[in-house]
Order: sequence, then C-alpha cells, then structure tokens
Amino acid sequence: KMVFLTFDDGSSTTVTPEILKILKENDVRATFFVTGENIERGGKKAEDLIKESFEYGNAIANHSYTHDYKYLYPGRTLNLDNFLADFNKTDELLKKILGPYFSTRVIRCPGGHMSWKGMDQLDNYLNENNMASIDWNALNADAEGRKKNAQELADYAIKTSQGKDIVVLLMHDTYGKEETAKALPTIIKYFKDNGYEFKTLS
Ligand SMILES: [Zn+2]
Repeated sequence: KMVFLTFDDGSSTTVTPEILKILKENDVRATFFVTGENIERGGKKAEDLIKESFEYGNAIANHSYTHDYKYLYPGRTLNLDNFLADFNKTDELLKKILGPYFSTRVIRCPGGHMSWKGMDQLDNYLNENNMASIDWNALNADAEGRKKNAQELADYAIKTSQGKDIVVLLMHDTYGKEETAKALPTIIKYFKDNGYEFKTLS
C-alpha cells in the first residue's frame, strides 16, 4: 500500500515550516505543488524553505504561477498558451532557487484536471513532453466548505482514504491552513498503522 501526501498552494512562511517539521519528526516525505506567486510573496524565507524541503527529500512540483482560474481557463475552458506561460514562470523560479538542473515532470492543475473543459490539448502536450498531471483520490477538505478543526480534517482524510491501496491525499500548506499542520501527525499515524509506504511524485 502506498500513500502520496500532497500539499498545494504553498510555499507559505507560516504553515510550510510547521509541515516540514512534522514530516522530519516522522521521517516521511511528501510532494509540494507550489505556486510561484506565493513563493515570491514569501521572499527569501520561502526560497530557503523550498531548498530545505527539497534537500530533505520532498518532491517539489509545479502548481502554476498565478493560480488564477479566469486566466488559465477563461469560460471554464483551458487556454493552453496562458497555461503554459504561467507554469513556465514557476518552472523558471524553481530553477533559480534549486539550480538550473532542477526539473519536475509532474504538475497539478489549479482546481484539478477533472474540473475544466478542453483539457485534451494539455494532455497531448504533457504526453509529448513525458509529463503528467496528477489529481487526488482523497482529501482532508481544508479548502472546501466551512473551516474545520484539526480533528475534523484528520477524520475527513482518513474517511476518504479508506479501502484504497494507493492514496493521493490533497492538503494545503498556504496561508491560513494552520489546522492542516495540526492534523498531520494523526494522518501520518493512520497510514503508518495501516502499513502504507510514503512515496513522492517527481
Ligand atoms: Zn491549488
């Protein structure tokens, strides 16, 4: 059994350091789908966090620069030129932080690949470039509905992971997601107790 812990919309200088600390305490690795705008907002501190995270063995992957649905998918339909320009900006930024040889073959579409029209064009592009867009099959629901406390987030993550041998768990490490960090030890314990191996996407 395998679990991929994934954190979207970071880095933040508030929640990401907490997540990183908990991952280290538990000796597990995760995948961070970062957005360029948030990295720039966090300045040098955010850049250092990405370096530290990458050196620890976490995977750093691309989740666009702006995360702006209207720009990426006007009329809920993919605009491939905008999409690629936006993702390229974050790719350049990551190369600046992690070195020119850094590359990731993995992206996550803002809002999820499943949510938009005209995605065939993107799939063709990704296939041609040996890349993949990865959604999720479980979540802690820290970005939907009313704000939940740590126990509720952990319960949600466990409930949606139940019965799955391969779990890709969606969480967020952006500003305001302190409860996600607090829920993480319980979530990690659940997967350890149930014999899952922790894997990353790169
Ligand atoms: Zn997102």
